[in-house]
Amino acid sequence: MFQKILIANRGEIAVRIIRSCMYMGIETIAIYSEVDKDSLHVQLADEAICIGKAKSNESYLNMENIITAAINKGAEAIHPGFGFLSENAQFAELCETVGITFIGPKSKTIRQMGDKSKARELMIDALVPVVPGSNGCVKDLSDAKELAKDIGFPILIKASAGGGGRGMRIAYSIDEFSTAFETAKTEAKNAFGDGSMYLEKYLENPKHIEFQMLCDKYGNTVHLGERDCSIQRRNQKVIEEAPSTIKPAIREKMAQAAIKACKSVNYENAGTIEFLLANDNFYFIEMNTRIQVEHPITEMITGIDIIKEQIKIAAGEKLSFKQKDIQFKGHSIECRLNAEIPKHNFRPSPGVILLLHIPSGPGVRFDSFIYPGSIIQPHYDSMIGKMIVHDNTRAEAIKKIRATLEELVIKGINTNQSFLYMIINNPNYIKGKFNTSFIDLNLEALLEYDEYE
Ligand code: ADP
Repeated sequence: MFQKILIANRGEIAVRIIRSCMYMGIETIAIYSEVDKDSLHVQLADEAICIGKAKSNESYLNMENIITAAINKGAEAIHPGFGFLSENAQFAELCETVGITFIGPKSKTIRQMGDKSKARELMIDALVPVVPGSNGCVKDLSDAKELAKDIGFPILIKASAGGGGRGMRIAYSIDEFSTAFETAKTEAKNAFGDGSMYLEKYLENPKHIEFQMLCDKYGNTVHLGERDCSIQRRNQKVIEEAPSTIKPAIREKMAQAAIKACKSVNYENAGTIEFLLANDNFYFIEMNTRIQVEHPITEMITGIDIIKEQIKIAAGEKLSFKQKDIQFKGHSIECRLNAEIPKHNFRPSPGVILLLHIPSGPGVRFDSFIYPGSIIQPHYDSMIGKMIVHDNTRAEAIKKIRATLEELVIKGINTNQSFLYMIINNPNYIKGKFNTSFIDLNLEALLEYDEYE
């Protein structure tokens, strides 16, 4: 097992990883930007090193500085968390070159699956169902237009290098196609430095169902069940739950497809296979080759510490359980708490946390990095924490998350707390009647009691 791990991240996920390292008796090295020197991950780690200025590309994305820090501090492994360099094949390769273990899959796998149109092709070869669409990337606008007519509208134009819901546009008809294509392409070029585009049939009102996978270096592959991440705003997840309400027969088919997907690329470490489900048909959309924001709900229903498993797999250990050993218990819900102003088009709301009361109790978990006096920086993602609950049934979990959202007090910055509360209290959400359009369709009602003026 490793003795020292560097955590190439910040915020709640850095804190989360440090905690599992502490449970395992592994020393940790935090990295931080100049403005993050008082951040919780810096205080919790055994050692910390400043790697640059506030702007991400001068610090948390600065591969050279991070690798140098790891070498100088004697780290044997690097955990990338999510976001930043977690799905950067070049960074994983750099780690491999200097002999530091990257806690994640091989750089080759990240490259294969990070290219979303390439991943689609690999899945077609592996006989995993994908959304009907283009074979690989389209050459140009006129090629795309011809293909779109064949596939049939509505069409979703997607960036092959895309992520976080960016570089994606819908065209409902041929008249809208050119503008949608050019807008998506420009956005992709600016955000990812890559304007390669592919097409998918736009599925109306699907559910987003994803499987948490764990694969060791010896070909052992298990799934830890699925998560329903359909509550989204602008294609970004807001509330997740596990298990989903899908039929058991479909769950089993999806699980088998997810296992097939991982095996087909000799996947190693933790990963997620994302599917869309429409009219009882499911389609692969992408694989995330890293730990995900919503991993805690899976931990709550399985009792498995996924970060610990990631570290053990990276250290060359065999999975200590088989599929039949994994027990699913109860229901878990996670709400993403953001420093933002929902009423003002969800504009970020950075500032200083003046007052904080965090609810607790059986089956209540708050993954975060905030404390009274901590600063929410304008430079980074606006997520400040995740409220996670677990209970025996979905109905009880809903009551519990409602109670925790009522009890939580955060003063100093504005958050989406009441927006989350309104979702949880929506009759259709409570009945489990929702899909990826839920927030869009209910936006006005969900904002009704937002106190922000
Ligand atoms: P990203 O990598 O940017 O997160 P994904 O491909 O994972 O993009 O898709 C994010 C979300 O966008 C999905 O959860 C879903 O809500 C929506 N989406 C993606 N592809 C389709 C599609 N073909 N039809 C309908 N919605 C889609």
